[in-house]
Amino acid sequence: MIYKKRTLPSELKALISLDKRLPNNHDKKHNVKKNLLICQASYNGKLEFDEHINEFRPDYPHAILHDLYLQQDGAYFQIDSLVITPSSITIVEVKNHIDKTVIKANPTQFIRVFQNGERKAMRNPYIEIDRKIHLLKNWLGKRGIQIPIDGILTFAHTNELAIEHPSPEMKTMFTYEVPVHFRSLPVNEQILDGHAIYNLANALLEHHKEYNTFPIANLYGINPADIRPGVICPICDRLGMQWGREKWNCLSCGHTGKTEHRQTVEDWFMLVQPKMTNREFRYFTQLNNRNVARGLLAKSGLQLIGERKAAHYILMKEGKSPTPVE
Ligand SMILES: [Zn+2]
Repeated sequence: MIYKKRTLPSELKALISLDKRLPNNHDKKHNVKKNLLICQASYNGKLEFDEHINEFRPDYPHAILHDLYLQQDGAYFQIDSLVITPSSITIVEVKNHIDKTVIKANPTQFIRVFQNGERKAMRNPYIEIDRKIHLLKNWLGKRGIQIPIDGILTFAHTNELAIEHPSPEMKTMFTYEVPVHFRSLPVNEQILDGHAIYNLANALLEHHKEYNTFPIANLYGINPADIRPGVICPICDRLGMQWGREKWNCLSCGHTGKTEHRQTVEDWFMLVQPKMTNREFRYFTQLNNRNVARGLLAKSGLQLIGERKAAHYILMKEGKSPTPVE
């Protein structure tokens, strides 16, 4: 049973917004586009994995959680997917590279071969998986759970892989091979019964923390003044919807709506800074009327802090997107 589904990663969401709002001639545009493509490919690989793991429906109790962020021993660790069965837990790392990957054994080496033939050593994902196994083991240990933890590395099937001298400790496979792998897992010993699996899955959900690196303008060395303001039409994707007759109007495609500024507010928090004043809201939505702005802000799921000149809005819960309020 799937306890946690995968959603659009916050980094990808922010990069999509940044790309829309950064002028084509901006010197950071290339970098943003490049990372957007990497992020999108990585997410697509994970979605492909999710489709395959969906075929794994054993008779025994089990739990699957996608995209978990946990904290242990003062460190954060992210797990692409976690599969819990009565006798073991598996951490799955999903990769999707556009380039060819060569994996060598003794010593383990990961090399990316780019289209122009250039070769570059990459970080060994097994070391990363081992670190996650270690941290998860401690996380479970604190809760009195002792169970074997395994790790597998999977690649989306579109990847070109060359595994030279495979060794048994390397569990590397394509995403389509994953259901077969899990079906072949022996479930001899029942360390966790159905009730314990249910409790563990819920404890993991409870301790999962959304993680993001907002605002990302800073991260990319982009001056917020270079980010184009305006409400983006959700239908034709054009910037510059205008407020009139109590709704947002797109002059390009004729679409109208009352809530289009919410995405603009979300963009501000993802890209620019973690607070927003009424003036900043008017600038970023290109709205003239202060009172209309106040009304719209009040319905944006934000929290008002301070009074008069010091008044500003923040997100209700740190790291989470604004929850729409009707
Ligand atoms: Zn439009």
